[in-house]
Amino acid sequence: MKICVLPGDGIGPEITAEAVRVLKALDLKFEMEEAQLGGCAIDAAKDPFPPATQKLAKEADAVLLGAVGGPQWDNNPRELRPESGLLRIRKDLGLFANLRPAILYPELANASTLKPEVVAGLDILIVRELTGDIYFGQPRGIEIRNGERFGFNTMHYTESEIRRILRVAFEAARKRSRKVCSVDKMNVLECTQLWRDVAKEVGKEYPDVELSHMLVDNAAMQLVKAPKQFDVVVTGNMFGDILSDEASMLTGSIGMLPSASLDEKNKGLYEPSHGSAPDIAGKGVANPLATILSVAMMLRYTFANEAAGRRIEDAVKKVLALGLRTGDIYEPGTQKVGTRAMGDAVLAAL
Ligand code: NAD
Repeated sequence: MKICVLPGDGIGPEITAEAVRVLKALDLKFEMEEAQLGGCAIDAAKDPFPPATQKLAKEADAVLLGAVGGPQWDNNPRELRPESGLLRIRKDLGLFANLRPAILYPELANASTLKPEVVAGLDILIVRELTGDIYFGQPRGIEIRNGERFGFNTMHYTESEIRRILRVAFEAARKRSRKVCSVDKMNVLECTQLWRDVAKEVGKEYPDVELSHMLVDNAAMQLVKAPKQFDVVVTGNMFGDILSDEASMLTGSIGMLPSASLDEKNKGLYEPSHGSAPDIAGKGVANPLATILSVAMMLRYTFANEAAGRRIEDAVKKVLALGLRTGDIYEPGTQKVGTRAMGDAVLAAL
C-alpha cells in the first residue's frame, strides 16, 4: 500500500504532518513517500507538477495532499501557478469524481451561520465531476475581436463522462439514504440538457434510488434554505465547484471537511476541502481535522478498510466531545488548541 504525500504550500505541511502521524499510528504497513506540488514545486523546479511528482503519484495507490497556492504565485503566468499543478494531477491520474461530504457534528452546531435547527444533523454528499466541463473545454482564451478584448470558454460533456459520474453518485447513494439530486441548467445550456437526459437514463439502472433534478440557481438557494432535503447531490465541474464550497460553509468550518477524488479503479487523491490559508500559515494554529478525516476517506475508498476509517472518525468525534477546538471552530467554553495539540488529541483518542 503506497501513499504519495504532497504537503504543498501554506498550512499544507503543518496539517499533512498531523494526518501522517495518524496514518502511522494505525500500524497498517503503508509505504509513504513525499514529493512537491504547487508553489513549492514552482520554486524548486519551475513546474507546479514536476516529473518526479508525476512518477510518484502514478505509482502510488493513493495520494494525500495538503493544499497549494499563495499570493506570491498569483501573478505568475497561468501554467506557472500552483492551481495548474492541481488541475494537471487530477487530469493525469484520471480523477473524475470528487466526493465532498458536508457533515455537521452536533458539537459544532453553533459554528454554522445558519440556525441550528436548519443544519443540525446535516449529512450530505456533493459529487462533482472533475475532469470535464468549461474548466477544460477548448477553444478558450482572450483575444482581440472587432477592436476590443473578447474572452471565451467552452462548456462540453460527452454522454460517457456524464454516465460515469452519475453512476458514482448512485452507488454512493446506495450506501446512504438512497436519494440523488442531479443539478443542471437545462433551461439555458444545451450541454446540461444532455446532462439531464443522461441522468434520467442512468436513473433507470437504479430503481431503488430516488432521482430528482434541480436547476443550479435553485439548488444554491435550497442549500441554504433547507439543506437537509439533500442526500447525494451530483453535478458538473463548475456548478460542483461552487455548490460544494457553499455546502461546506453550512457546517461552519471549512477546516473540518475532507474530500476524495477518485479514478475508475478507486485510486484516489485525498485532501481537505480548504485552501492553503496563507493568512495563518506557519503559526501552528490551522485545523488539521479535515486532512485527518481525508485519511479516513482514503482508508474507506481506496484501501476498502471501513473499520480503520471509522476508527479515525470516531477519534475525531471524541476529541470534539472533549471540547478541544482550533481557532476556526472555537467558541467560548471550549478549549482552544493549536495544530499539533489537536493531532496529539486525535492520536490519544485512537
Ligand atoms: P482558504 O481555504 O485557504 O482560506 C479561507 C479562510 O479559511 C482563511 O481565513 C483561512 O485562514 C481559513 N482556513 C482554511 N483552512 C483552515 C484550516 N485548516 N484551519 C483554520 N482555518 C482555515 O481559501 P483562500 O483564502 O480563498 O485561498 C488561499 C489559497 O489557497 C489561494 O492561493 C487559493 O488558490 C488556494 N486554494 C487551494 C486549494 C487546494 O489546494 N485544493 C483550494 C482552494 C484554494
